[in-house]
Amino acid sequence: MKRSSLLTVALAVAALAVAPPAQATHHLPLGRQVLPAGDGWAAEGTGTTGGSAAPETGVHVVATRAELVAALAAPAPRIIYVRGEIDGNEGPDGALLDCADYATGGYTLEAYLAAYDPAVWGRDREPEGPLEDARVASAAAQTRQIKLKVGAGTTIVGLGARAVLKGLNLHVDRVDNVIVRNINFVDAADCFPQWDPTDGALGAWNSLYDNVSLTGATHVWMDHNTFTDGDNPDSAQPRYFGQPFQVHDGQLDITNGSNFVTVSWNRFTDHDKTMLIGSSNTSTTDPGKLNVTVHHNLFHNNLQRLPRVRFGQVHVYNNFYVVPDPAPFIYALGVGVQSKIFAESNAFALHPDLDPAALLFNWGGTTLTARDNVLKTRHRTEPIDLIAVYNAANDPDFGTDAGWTPTLHTRIDNPRIVPLLVTLRAGAGRA
Ligand code: CA
Ligand code: CA
Repeated sequence: MKRSSLLTVALAVAALAVAPPAQATHHLPLGRQVLPAGDGWAAEGTGTTGGSAAPETGVHVVATRAELVAALAAPAPRIIYVRGEIDGNEGPDGALLDCADYATGGYTLEAYLAAYDPAVWGRDREPEGPLEDARVASAAAQTRQIKLKVGAGTTIVGLGARAVLKGLNLHVDRVDNVIVRNINFVDAADCFPQWDPTDGALGAWNSLYDNVSLTGATHVWMDHNTFTDGDNPDSAQPRYFGQPFQVHDGQLDITNGSNFVTVSWNRFTDHDKTMLIGSSNTSTTDPGKLNVTVHHNLFHNNLQRLPRVRFGQVHVYNNFYVVPDPAPFIYALGVGVQSKIFAESNAFALHPDLDPAALLFNWGGTTLTARDNVLKTRHRTEPIDLIAVYNAANDPDFGTDAGWTPTLHTRIDNPRIVPLLVTLRAGAGRA
């Protein structure tokens, strides 16, 4: 073993031995734990305690959609333990509904494709008329079934390693103080994607559901979850009108004035649009908000939005990015309007054919801070100056100062140990 490899292993073992940080409540059951002081933007001000202080009557163990819905409606503070797999498509009798059960007004995909084929409908206006109305009504029926709102003062945690929330969208909407940990989020597929010929030069299919959506949410801690599309990945979808039939939206989208969010130790895998922070360039409510910390996450075979940022001061540190396939990859960090990304001590393992200049993408931003990041190849790990590499290949150049320095963070690990550390410890079942 080479000396640098030995050093890497020694550093990783040392880091595993000393973690987690002081003040953590990890000796308590998962549902009673709170965000450690200083652990990212969610620690700001009042910090994030979720439903940890619930009385015994506020502790719920749920194994079905109906039980989950009831627990979410119970008085706060509430701790909800998820046992086994819950599918958002579970009907009143527990049997799974399918897309045909939601379809109404004469909607079928075949009819929709026939009506809005660009050869028939053209490309300069969005679909409208009876079939689009039917699609909207059908989508509303699915939304009523699979979108579940999470109230203030809630902790949702998986029992054991195999807790699954499948085919549903958790929506944390305009509330404060929510913790979600140790959950496997799987495949929040939309039965009724919308064709928009005016989206981009070639048009696009768009879907409604993220696995988790934060809108106007504050003090949220998303920790040790796994996000996957299971046996229904984006890469397996057909193409219609020359474009991918996109049945998924984000894995974790943070928008509409959300603020003070920590996203730590999660696994994001095999997905296109992964994490959107800020959904509008023209928002009047987002400036000064969307402050998010993204640390010690694994991004494995994700195509874009890792994350994509508008407005916020977003600290992105100690994440491990793995890009095994260069062809579909789009970018990692999206530098959007008024964004202030501070990216440090991340590790990138890229297919050798992928140009690292592709790690950044200009969505209308002008500057960011990047330091101490590393590029891991098969034989060595070396520093990479993300901004210099981007600027050498692109114009206009990014500036090199995001204009702020993060103060809310736990220990920042040596990026050389990040691949091993994050691979071993990120994701559900490892909290
Ligand atoms: Ca979304
Ligand atoms: Ca340049």
